Amino acid sequence: MSGARKVYIKSFGCQMNVYDSHRMADTLAPEGFAETATPEDADLVILNTCHIREKAAEKVYSELGRVRLIKQAAARDGRQVMVAVAGCVAQAEGAEIMRRAPSVDLLVGPQSYHRLPALLARAQRGERPIDTEFPIEDKFDALPAPSRAATRRRGVSAFVTVQEGCDKFCTFCVVPYTRGAETSRPVAKIVAEAERLADAGVREITLIGQNVNAYHGEGPDGRAFTLGQLLHRIAEVPGIARLRYTTSHPGDMEESLIAAHRELPALMPYLHLPVQSGSDRILAAMNRRHTRADYLDVIARVRAAQPAIAFSSDFIVGFPGETEEDFRATLSLVDGVGYAGAFSFKYSARPGTPAAEMTDQIPDEIKTERLARLQHAIDRQQAAFNARCRGRSYDILFEKTGRHPGQIVGRSPYLQAVQVMADATLIGEIETVTITEVSANSLFGTLARPAPARVPLLMQAGG
Ligand code: SF4
Repeated sequence: MSGARKVYIKSFGCQMNVYDSHRMADTLAPEGFAETATPEDADLVILNTCHIREKAAEKVYSELGRVRLIKQAAARDGRQVMVAVAGCVAQAEGAEIMRRAPSVDLLVGPQSYHRLPALLARAQRGERPIDTEFPIEDKFDALPAPSRAATRRRGVSAFVTVQEGCDKFCTFCVVPYTRGAETSRPVAKIVAEAERLADAGVREITLIGQNVNAYHGEGPDGRAFTLGQLLHRIAEVPGIARLRYTTSHPGDMEESLIAAHRELPALMPYLHLPVQSGSDRILAAMNRRHTRADYLDVIARVRAAQPAIAFSSDFIVGFPGETEEDFRATLSLVDGVGYAGAFSFKYSARPGTPAAEMTDQIPDEIKTERLARLQHAIDRQQAAFNARCRGRSYDILFEKTGRHPGQIVGRSPYLQAVQVMADATLIGEIETVTITEVSANSLFGTLARPAPARVPLLMQAGG
C-alpha cells in the first residue's frame, strides 16, 4: 500500500488505550497512513474501545452508528472508508460486533495490533477478518518504534507500557478475560524505548500496565526486576526528569517500590492506588485479596517513605450485597486517607464476570444516592487539597500552549493543570511556579524567577 492516506483513531478509556492507539498509528505509518484528527477526512477509522465503564459495548455501537454515516457520505463521493474496532470491546464481543454493525470491516484485539496491516489488506480484499487471539509472538517486538516526529507531536510526557494483563480476577473486572494473563516486558526493551523518547524531547514517562506494580520483567542479569528496580533504571536515562506509574494493586506495593518513593527524586509524589471499597466484607466479595487494614498500612508506609505523597483512588459503590454499613466504611476510609482526587462509579455488571451472577444486586436509586454522597466527600477533599497549593511554589513541567494568548499549561507534581502567562519556548522545560489562584479544575501561577527558596513538597493529602 502507498500514498498519503489518513487514519483517525478514537481512544476510549484508560492510558493503556491511548498508548495502544499510538502504537497502531506507528504500525500504519510505514503503510502510508498519516494521523488525522477528523473522522470525516479519514480513509481508515479505528475505534479503540474500553470495556471497563458502564454500557461500554452500547457506547461502541452508538459510535459505530455515527461512523456508518461518515462511511456512507464518503461512498457517495466515491471514496472508500474502512472501519476497524480494536481494544477490549472487540476482544469481548468478537463476532457479535460484525453481526450488529455491518459497516465494520475488521476487528482486532489488544494483543494483535502488530497484525493490523495484514488484517487491513484482507479487509480490502472483501474479507471481514477478526483477530482476537493471544498470539505467542511478542507484539512489542513486532510493533515499529514511533518516528521522532510522531513522538514530538505527542508531547513532552509519554506513556510506556511495561506490563499487560492481570491474574488477580477481581469479581467485577473484565481485564483478566480481555487482556489475558499478566506479562511483563524485559527491562532492556523498556529502557531502549525510554531512551528513544528522551532523545525526541520527552521529559516525563508514566509506566503503565493494568496491574503495573506486579511488574516482573527480565533484568539484564536474567533475573526478574521489580517495578522499584525498573524505576531506578529508567531514572538514569539522560533527559528523563519525571517518572510516574499506574495502575497499582495495593497487594503488590512491595518494599523496593515503596523505597523508590524515598530514593528517587524523579518519582513524582502522587500515587493512584485503587481500593474500591472500605468494607472488608465487600473487599472479600470483590476478591480484592487485601483488607481495609492492609490498604491503610500500605498508605502509611508510602507516606513514611515520602511525606509529600498525595493519593488518588478508584471506588465502586453499590457492589452486590453492599449495605449502608459497608458504604459508611468506605466513607470513613476516605475520611481517614484524605485524597487529592478519586474516581468513583456505580457498580455495573460486566457479562461473564462472577459479580454479574451475584443475586443481591443493589437497586439503582440506592447506588445513585451513595455515589452522590461519596463524590461530595471526594470533591471536598480535592478542593481542600488544591486550596492548600495557593501561595506555594512547585516545579511545573510545561506541556502546551493554553487557551488564551500568551498562556502556557503545565503539570504540577500532583498532576494538576497549572496555567501560567509565559513564553511558549518554555514548553518542555521544568520551571518553578508560585500558585496564585485556584479554580475547580486548574491552578494559576506566576513564574518564580529568580527562583525563591522552594517550599518543600510538604503537603500530605490528608494533612
Ligand atoms: S487488579 Fe485491577 S485489572 Fe486486575 S482484576 Fe482487579 S480490578 Fe481488574
